[in-house]
Amino acid sequence: MSKLIKRRRYSDFEINTMDLAVTVASNSYCERRKVGCLILKGNQIISDGYNGTISGFQNCCEDEESGLTLPTVLHAESNALMKLLRNGSMGLNGCTMFVTTSPCLNCAKMIIQAGIKKLFYSDKHHLDEGLELLKETGIEVVQIYPTANWLAATLPQHKLAKFENVKLAEYE
Ligand SMILES: [Zn+2]
Repeated sequence: MSKLIKRRRYSDFEINTMDLAVTVASNSYCERRKVGCLILKGNQIISDGYNGTISGFQNCCEDEESGLTLPTVLHAESNALMKLLRNGSMGLNGCTMFVTTSPCLNCAKMIIQAGIKKLFYSDKHHLDEGLELLKETGIEVVQIYPTANWLAATLPQHKLAKFENVKLAEYE
């Protein structure tokens, strides 16, 4: 698929946790892009989420005719945050988030307000206002470069083509 490169700037724990976020993403019914998110307090995972429709709606993320994402879809980051609210949050101040795709502007606002202090993302979305906002407010933002397997698990075949000339990471 592409030239693989070794990156040793992350800990095994960080790579394994992103790998787990990709596994969470694979539960998503969304076809355009599957996103997984984990929230950690220290080294402990306290919530997870993937993009999908809100409770009470059928598990279909795209409009059948246009193929566009339905307004009833909630992003992975928001789902992970809401799950904590639903089940009783222990407070997220100082927490870390792992998300497979860089957050949109709306999720970034909630991440900031929730008190999350560090965010790891893998695949960079072409709309990067969310990422810029996080950086502006002093949240530590780290990209863990995607592997070919991670992309294959979260993106449809036709979207993978644009990564053909991108250097992908390989972690062992
Ligand atoms: Zn979002």
